Amino acid sequence: MEKENKLYEGKAKIIYSTSDPSLVIQYFKDDATAFDARKKGTIIDKGVYNNKISTVIFELLEKEGIPTHFIRQIDDREMLVKKLTIFPIEVVIRNRIAGSLAKRFGMEEGGELQTSILEFYYKNDALHDPMINEDHIRVFGFAKDDDLAYIKDISHKINRILTGFFDELGIILVDYKLEFGRTPSGSICLADEITPDGCRLWDKKTLKKLDKDRFRWDLGEVEDAYQEVFKRVCKEADIQ
Ligand code: 5GP
Repeated sequence: MEKENKLYEGKAKIIYSTSDPSLVIQYFKDDATAFDARKKGTIIDKGVYNNKISTVIFELLEKEGIPTHFIRQIDDREMLVKKLTIFPIEVVIRNRIAGSLAKRFGMEEGGELQTSILEFYYKNDALHDPMINEDHIRVFGFAKDDDLAYIKDISHKINRILTGFFDELGIILVDYKLEFGRTPSGSICLADEITPDGCRLWDKKTLKKLDKDRFRWDLGEVEDAYQEVFKRVCKEADIQ
């Protein structure tokens, strides 16, 4: 399997084709953006941390029976994944009040939720990823009813696995974004990455933010936060 051409460059990752048409390489960059890319910066070694954190989490999810696009880690910054047609939907799962939920309802960050909240957003940078509901998804054809039912079901399963996993690491999984795609043979897989870029992660004891909010809000110790998550996740997975 040889690395070939750059197919797409996003804000945090580059996708390369390979000699196997069913596989692509995800390269994790150190670039960080926030607020619709109005804020730009670099988080040193973020790409290395995120590649490893995602690897451990995808391996855990696969072991628990969740289909993902993950094949294997190639090196510090590269991961081999299945080539998918991505649904134009972001699934956000919330276990605590934070971020845009706190803002939308005028609530203080940190409040616990009776049950998790699942939201959908339309993946469209030019429109700033507007929030959508299941009718928008059905009527605009973003996903078929049975695919959406499957995505919802598997998102709840992922949440049960990941809240437990992070809890054991002394971390609260506050909220996060998931993306899904379909293989040419038709099966639906979890795609993208699971990292402090797309998750809010708070230390259980101190409630210190260990995620991209440190970059968004200039809280300092940004690299330290990513490294802390990396250390706890990799220790749990027994990786030196
Ligand atoms: P919020 O809606 O509160 O801004 O975001 C909820 C959660 O989803 C946060 O953990 C946030 O990091 C994640 N999220 C939402 N949209 C995106 C996105 O476009 N990119 C990334 N990396 N994460 C997102």
